[in-house]
Amino acid sequence: MAGIAHVAVGLAAKPLVPEVNVGWLILGTCLLDILWIVFWTVGLETSPAYHGPGAHPPYWDHSLLMAVVWSVLFGLLASWLARRSRRRIRIGIVFGLMVFSHWVLDWITHPMTALSPTDVGIPLAFGNSPLVGLGLYRSLTAVWVTEIGGTLAGLAIYILWRVRNKQPELTLEPPRPIV
Ligand SMILES: [Zn+2]
Repeated sequence: MAGIAHVAVGLAAKPLVPEVNVGWLILGTCLLDILWIVFWTVGLETSPAYHGPGAHPPYWDHSLLMAVVWSVLFGLLASWLARRSRRRIRIGIVFGLMVFSHWVLDWITHPMTALSPTDVGIPLAFGNSPLVGLGLYRSLTAVWVTEIGGTLAGLAIYILWRVRNKQPELTLEPPRPIV
């Protein structure tokens, strides 16, 4: 979970698939966190601090293995939902990449000890697999720079694209003379 920087990835990806509502792209970038909430609710995942008895790292949604599985599955689903489009394969690939971008950002930012002192990283797979992460968010300054800078960059790409691809203005017909 790296905050609103995930949303920025969805905004920045809009020019790749202009026919897809940006809301779907943003949903894709947040999907692993949404899955975590669902799995935590049903008892499959444990507390994010995962240090208590019976607690474990977030295997089912935030392990590299499952991130790949979910990215492929949701990419295929997006492609199927867009089956009437000639660009369904591209849409599926971009959506799958949106889902996987979440893991990449989380890998860069975890362990985010500036926000959660007990964070030890995200797992590669199940069991005793290593917990990984570059630990960018060990620094609170990095949190602010990345979250604000990333969001502004994503917004800028999205807004610039919207401005450049604005629908042409409607031309008004001159009034017809009354016969
Ligand atoms: Zn996450």
